[in-house]
This record gives sequence, structure tokens and C-alpha cells, in this order.
Amino acid sequence: MTVRWGLIGASTIARQFMINAIRAQGDGEVVAVMSSSPERANTYAGENGIPRGVSTLADLLSAGVDAVYISTTNELHLEQALAAIEAGKHVLCEKPLALTSADARKMVAAANAAGVVLGTNHHLRNAGAHRAMREAIAAGRIGKPIAARVFHSVYLPESLQGWRISKPEAGGGVVLDITVHDADTLRFVLGDDPVEISAFTQSAGMAGGGLEDGAMCIWRFKSGVMAQSHEGFTTKFAGTGFEVHGSEGSLFATNVMTQKPVGSVLLRTGAGEEELSFDREDLYARSLRQFHAAIRGEGRPSATGEDGVWSLAAAEAALQSAKSGKAVTIDPKLGSAA
Ligand code: NDP
Repeated sequence: MTVRWGLIGASTIARQFMINAIRAQGDGEVVAVMSSSPERANTYAGENGIPRGVSTLADLLSAGVDAVYISTTNELHLEQALAAIEAGKHVLCEKPLALTSADARKMVAAANAAGVVLGTNHHLRNAGAHRAMREAIAAGRIGKPIAARVFHSVYLPESLQGWRISKPEAGGGVVLDITVHDADTLRFVLGDDPVEISAFTQSAGMAGGGLEDGAMCIWRFKSGVMAQSHEGFTTKFAGTGFEVHGSEGSLFATNVMTQKPVGSVLLRTGAGEEELSFDREDLYARSLRQFHAAIRGEGRPSATGEDGVWSLAAAEAALQSAKSGKAVTIDPKLGSAA
């Protein structure tokens, strides 16, 4: 059965990655795109070979779609997801799922009640590098995990220097943009859930409107593992990485906090050093493949709605901590979902 997708949002991420990822599935088709502007809807549809451009949610939901991909600005996700779920559509939603974890939980509850699939587009779980790290840790190759370090401070391209750095009401700021990804990737790689976070944020000259464009967080996980993470929009030359240090070994992943299937993972133990090999499948195509399987009743999306609640709860706690100057408990008010 072909999955007929409707795109909610004439966005950059859909144009650069998701339309191709849908089309890379043997059973995926993009049938319509919705923009708040009729003109932009038509232009975007034309430029991307999409049969229909529409400018209302009602038109998109009645365009014969089975599933929707939501990539509007963050304040719109909740309402659009609830409407799609009510119309019986499966929903793959961008992160953060909503502006608060309480709202994200409403999305999860609605999807569960309606019996539709809800996924969060945390692409980094689909990276071969992160899956290789998770497998190495689960197989005991670094012994008991002790600490992790995430280097995820980038330079926000000029073309994206819009709502992310100027609109708090749209869910701008680096914490809702990147810390959510780090929360999800830490949970996935460690197979553990965070319980507490302490964060500092900064405005280093790019973001306005009281928004942060840099964050450093210290995390404590259920097992006692500690992590540090650095998220930013303003560091042109920093590079990205992810390290996990255990009692018997360390993993050093370089250039892996990215949208492309690139980077390397080195395992260092008493026996020496070993480059881990991993698959180089497109991250978003893999996410779509898992989502299509979930629609068929085979497994779950690579990141579920519950995972999206977790990452948002962590980001929320980071923002609270930065404001209060105190460590804050992370509580998604869900069962464990790592
Ligand atoms: P964009 O800024 O490209 O698009 C967001 C919205 O902005 C669109 O829905 C569109 O509204 C509006 N817009 C786009 N271009 C214009 C324009 N020229 N003039 C006026 N309005 C315009 O956002 P991104 O694609 O960067 O991000 C969208 C979502 O995806 C966010 O939730 C973000 O967090 C997430 N994201 C996730 C990534 C991942 O890897 N998982 C990576 C990047 C983003 P309309 O639809 O009404 O036309």
C-alpha cells in the first residue's frame, strides 16, 4: 500500500531532506503541501513536483492523505497535529513536538486514543554512527558507562537566521532547536533516561528578543552517568562530536551531530584503538522507512511521540535551570521510554 503524504509547512527541512526521503521509499508519495500563503503553497508545490499546494489545514487533510509531516514553526505543531490526528491521519512531527511537554503529552494521548502512529523527527537516532555507539555500549565494549560529552555547537546558516533567533513566541532559541536533539541522542546512545539537568545559556550576538543562541548543560542519568552538552548557533569552526567514557573503554565520535550520514567512531580500550564501521544510509530515509513500517503495524517509529515528550521535558528543564540558576528535575510524566 502506498503511503500518501501531506506536508504541513512549506519549509526548508522538507525541501532539503524530507521530500526526498519520502520518495526514496518504494511506497511513499507526496500528494500535497500546505503553506499559510496560497502563493507560497503553489510556488513550493511547483518547485518540488508536488501535485497540489493548499493554504488551509482542512484542504490538506481532505486531499486524500494517509499521513502528514509537520514542519511548520514550533508554536503551530500542537494544533496542526491534533487536527490531523482527529482526521485519522498518521503524524510525523518535527521537534520540538510543541512548546511545552504538557502539550506534547496531549498529542501522544490523542494519537493513542485515535490509534494512529505519532513519530518525532529526531533524525540522529537514525545515524549509523549513533546506532554503532549504542550497540557497542549495550554489548559492554566500554564496560560500565561513566560519562558522556556532546559537542553540538554549530553556525546557523544565514538562510535560517529567521524565527529561530528572533521569535520566542514561535519557539525560537537554541535549546528548543538543538538541546532537544542532544536529549534524544543521549537517551538513545546510552539507553538511559536523564533525571536532572543544570544549564547555563548565553546570547553571543546572534539571537535577539531575549532568546539564547548558546547553551551548556550538565545532565545526570538514572544509572548515575553524567553528561555535558554544548549547543550553539554562533560557532563557525567548532565541529561536532559525541564521546562516551566507560570503565573499560571510550568511544570518540567525530562529525556526527549532523544531518548527513558522515563522521567516524573510534573505540579505545586496553586492547588498542578500533574504528567502528557503520552503515551510511540517509538518516531521514531511514526514519521514513521505520515510520512506514509502523503504519503497517511492524514496530514503532525510530523516535516515538513519547520520545518527543522526553526531549522536550529535558529542554524545558534546561531553560528553567538557566533562568533559576538551580539544577532542575527532568520529568516527562511518562513511563521509561529509552
Ligand atoms: P523554515 O523557516 O524553512 O520553515 C518554517 C515555516 O516558515 C514554513 O512552514 C513557512 O510557513 C515559513 N516560511 C518558509 N519560508 C518562508 C518565506 N520565504 N517567507 C515567509 N515564510 C516562510 O524552517 P525549517 O525548515 O528550518 O524548520 C521547520 C521545522 O523543522 C521546525 O520545527 C524545526 O525545529 C524543524 N527542523 C528539524 C530538523 C531535523 O533535522 N529534525 C532540521 C531543521 C528543522 P508556511 O508553511 O506557512 O509557508
